[in-house]
Amino acid sequence: MNLINECKGAKTIAVSGHVRPDGDCVGSTTAMYRYLKKVFPDARVDLYLEKPAAIFDCLADVKDVKDETDPSTTYDEKYDLFVALDCSTTDRLGNAAQLFDKAAKRVVIDHHISNNGIGDVWEIRPDASSTCEILFDLMEEQYFDEELAKSLYIGIIHDCGVFQYSNTGAHTLEAAAKLIGYGFDFASLIDETFYEKTYLQNQIMGRALLESILFMNGRCIVSSVDRKTMEFYGANPKDLDGIVNQLRLTKGVDVAIFMYETATQEFKVSMRSSDAVDVAAIATFFGGGGHKKAAGCTMNGSFHDVVNNLSGHIAKQLGME
Ligand code: 5GP
Ligand code: MN
Repeated sequence: MNLINECKGAKTIAVSGHVRPDGDCVGSTTAMYRYLKKVFPDARVDLYLEKPAAIFDCLADVKDVKDETDPSTTYDEKYDLFVALDCSTTDRLGNAAQLFDKAAKRVVIDHHISNNGIGDVWEIRPDASSTCEILFDLMEEQYFDEELAKSLYIGIIHDCGVFQYSNTGAHTLEAAAKLIGYGFDFASLIDETFYEKTYLQNQIMGRALLESILFMNGRCIVSSVDRKTMEFYGANPKDLDGIVNQLRLTKGVDVAIFMYETATQEFKVSMRSSDAVDVAAIATFFGGGGHKKAAGCTMNGSFHDVVNNLSGHIAKQLGME
């Protein structure tokens, strides 16, 4: 994709990413927002997202976000161009899907294997660590600045677990090397946006680990947090980030499952796996999506129903039926 050619001529542009925006989503959308404003100074560019977590306030452009969780945000405008990032299905766009549907042209850039190609023009690279890594290639460096580099760097480190996960490639590190050349304090950025937890987040993670259950001969681990517990701690879903990654680090485990209750008999499920299991296939079966080793979906039923339904698919893949 020639990004500039695809966006040329648009006078009004909306940029958005997926619901419950993570680091790659916030990083890629803020970078795109800044880039398009620089390349096309005469165009009006708007950035739509659900309000990002406070850790992302370190990115200057987050203050310009049109908050999709704010009931006063409207979706009536017909934009010349809609740029969707890090998002594999239109329903994952949340409220901004209304703008996507109306827009004259839709450009989609994503690295989810479950993205079958949405919009009018797309660039989907499942081998890229992150959407930000793809943007690093598609954007012309003459428009980079420290703030844009910081956005792309945040997206990369969040999606590859600070270069730890297997989606990290030589190109990921090359991109990161170029980006830190823009001079931001990358060590603090990693600590403050990736590793640091509030006291409450650590407490709730501790509780989830304590209550976790090993099953299938220790090859799976599951834990859940119900609404009552979340209310007790005053926690919101963003406070649960990272729990599934910690569960995954249990020795001998091939699949880690973490879920939290979103409504009566409804759970948001996150899965992480070793090479032995493709969790994207399982999540996609249940209406979600993601990557081979990191995927998620929303499932109905009790905790035990959800575990039973997932176990069947995991057992099949592990040859343990
Ligand atoms: P997480 O478990 O961190 O929320 O998500 C892991 C991966 O799966 C991410 O790449 C995320 O975009 C994807 N994912 C999580 N939940 C859903 C979902 O409900 N639908 C789809 N399509 N993808 C999801
Ligand atoms: Mn991503």
